[in-house]
Amino acid sequence: NLSKRLQVVASYVKQDAILADIGSDHAYLPTYLVQKGVIQKAVAGEVVKGPYESAVKNVQRENVSDAVTVRLANGLFAIQDGDGVDTVSIAGMGGPLIAKILEEGKSLLTSVKRIITQPNIHAKAIREWSVDNGWSIIDEKILKEDGKIYEVVVLEKGNASYSETDLLLGPILSKEKDEVFNEKWQHEIKQWKHIVQSLGDAKNNPIVEEKRDQLNNQIQLVEEVLQK
Ligand code: SAM
Repeated sequence: NLSKRLQVVASYVKQDAILADIGSDHAYLPTYLVQKGVIQKAVAGEVVKGPYESAVKNVQRENVSDAVTVRLANGLFAIQDGDGVDTVSIAGMGGPLIAKILEEGKSLLTSVKRIITQPNIHAKAIREWSVDNGWSIIDEKILKEDGKIYEVVVLEKGNASYSETDLLLGPILSKEKDEVFNEKWQHEIKQWKHIVQSLGDAKNNPIVEEKRDQLNNQIQLVEEVLQK
């Protein structure tokens, strides 16, 4: 059974999309989407041999080899001319790594209409990449599974600009402010306050003072959003 996390990612794949799932590991996501009849064709990309082999095995076992092509490749270079990929998913990695994969392979995104990302941490890196590269955030979700909190950020082509707070918290998530969102950021604030406290004694060190000011500023911005 597909995890709740990947089900949320799957919910953003349109009927009959042609998907490239990058960092697919077992290829659970494309396999599930084919079996549900959502898509007929997908590429599953993996850069590491072990996960690549488990993807190949799983696709064979589930009898979806005709629909899901597994490729050993770095990031978006799993996409080939003629695949007709219109949707990309990149899930289960840190935001900075997802942003790096998008940046390095952006020449392969010309026919792509939608990018579905699921950063485990630092979603901000993806939001920043989107602004810099002519993509805008069309939806976001936050969810908790097995005690861990995950974000999903969905991009389509378009120009947008976001405030610093929106880049950090998410322009849509910070408006919805659901329970998991509040939990995540209350936890972050707590950690930042700990850091501020531990920096408290270092007087007359401009670097430390700057760091402390930055954190205090961030704490204030996020608290404002939570209290609004
Ligand atoms: N996407 C699946 C999910 O969300 O459950 C698997 C997530 S798994 C934690 C991350 C996978 O990304 C690993 O299998 C890793 O080998 C792969 N990966 C990391 N960097 C990659 C890259 N540059 N290109 C392709 N795959 C990559």
